Amino acid sequence: MANDVNLAQGRDYLAIPGPSVMPDAVLRAMHRAAPNIYAGPLVDMTHSIVADLARVARTRHNATIYIGNGHAAWEAALANTIAVGDRVLVPATGSFGLGWAEMVEGLGGVADIIDFGKSNPMEMGRIAEALAADKSHQIKAVLAVHVDTSSSVRNDIAALRRVMNDVGHPALLMADCIASLCCDEFEMDAWGVDVMVSACQKGLMVPPGISFVFFNDKAAQIRATMPRVSRYWDWKPRANPELFPQHFCGTAPTHHLYGLRTALDMIFEEGLEQVWARHRRLAQAIWAACDVWGQDGPLRLNVADPKNRSHAVTALQIGAPNGAALQDWVRDNLGLTLGIGLGMAPPGDPARDGFFRLGHMGHVNGQMVMAMLGGVQAGMIAQDIPHGRGALDAAAAVIAGK
Ligand SMILES: *Cc1c(COP(=O)(O)O)cnc(C)c1O
Repeated sequence: MANDVNLAQGRDYLAIPGPSVMPDAVLRAMHRAAPNIYAGPLVDMTHSIVADLARVARTRHNATIYIGNGHAAWEAALANTIAVGDRVLVPATGSFGLGWAEMVEGLGGVADIIDFGKSNPMEMGRIAEALAADKSHQIKAVLAVHVDTSSSVRNDIAALRRVMNDVGHPALLMADCIASLCCDEFEMDAWGVDVMVSACQKGLMVPPGISFVFFNDKAAQIRATMPRVSRYWDWKPRANPELFPQHFCGTAPTHHLYGLRTALDMIFEEGLEQVWARHRRLAQAIWAACDVWGQDGPLRLNVADPKNRSHAVTALQIGAPNGAALQDWVRDNLGLTLGIGLGMAPPGDPARDGFFRLGHMGHVNGQMVMAMLGGVQAGMIAQDIPHGRGALDAAAAVIAGK
C-alpha cells in the first residue's frame, strides 16, 4: 500500500519526558485576567499550594517555590547548603546526576562523582566505601537523582539513607525528584531525605516555569552556618508563607499558581497512591510491548531489571539510525512526538541516532499509552525496523489487568 496519506492532522501527542501533557482543566485555570499579587485570593491560594506541595512530597517540613525550571531548584538547594570549597558526593546514574555535580563545581564546591554508567542504579557498597573513607566528614552532602530521566534508572533512596546511617556519616541527603514526584512512590520524611528538589512540568502537569525545594530542620541548621546566601536563592523567607509576597522575592508566578492549584486538586481527587499505581501499571504495559518487540529485532530497554526502572520515562536503544528515523516518521506522519535519546552517546557521534525515550508521566491514561505504542509499532513497520510480533497484545493484556 502506497504511503500517500498523511495521518498527522488531529490532536498532537507529546510523549517526551517533560514537559508532559497538560490537562485541559489546568489550561482553563490559567486562562484568566491578571490577579492582584498583594492581597486577595492569590495569597490564600499560595498558602494552600505550599501545604499541598509538602503533602505530595510526604514531608511535614518546609516547602518553597522558585520561579525557574528544575535547574533553578538544583541551584537553590546548593546555594543554601554548599559554600565555596565544600565537598559533595554524587553517585551518578545518568546525565542529570552529572549535571547537578557540574553545578556544584560552578558554585565553587567540589563534587566527588561515582559514575555508575547509563543503565545501572547506584551500587550501595561503593557509596558506603566512599563515605567510610571520609573519616573527617568533609563530604557535606550526598546528591542523589531519584529517577535519572536520561537513562530512566530509578534509584533506591531509602537504601541510600540506610547506607549513610550504617556508616554514621552526617552528610545531608539531597534528592532530585524532578522526574519522579507524583509518578513514582517517594517518601521524603520516611526515607530520611533532608533536601528534595522538584519542578512543575513533569508529574505535576503544569507548563515549565516553577520549581520547588523542600528541606527539613537538619538542612535549615546547615543553612544557618553558611557564610552568605544570595537574597534571591535564600529559602528562609520563601519557607514562611506569612511573608507573602517576599515568598517569591518579587512578583508571584500568578498563572502558574492557578494551574498548579488545579493540578494538585486533580492529584488529590485521584489519590496520590492511585497516581503512583496508575504510573506503575502503564509502565508495565510499555515494558511488556518493548520486551516482545525486542524478541525479534534491535529494540532493547535501557534498564534490564524492572525494579530499577522509572514508572514515568522509558529509555530505549534501537541502533542508529533507527532511533532518529522512527522519531521523525511518527512525528511527521502521526502527530506523535517521542523523546530523544539524552546523554547516551557523545555529541556528533552517529550512535546518538540509536536511542529514544518514551515519556509517560502525569496526565496519561491507558488509551494514550496504547495509542503511543501503536504509533511506535507503525513507525517500525514504516521504517522496516525488525521487531517481534504481538507487542500490542502484550501491552493490552497488562492494561486489562490480565
Ligand atoms: C527535567 C529534569 C531536570 C531538569 O529540569 P529543567 O526543568 O529542565 O531544568 C533535572 N533533573 C531531572 C531528574 C529531570 O528529569
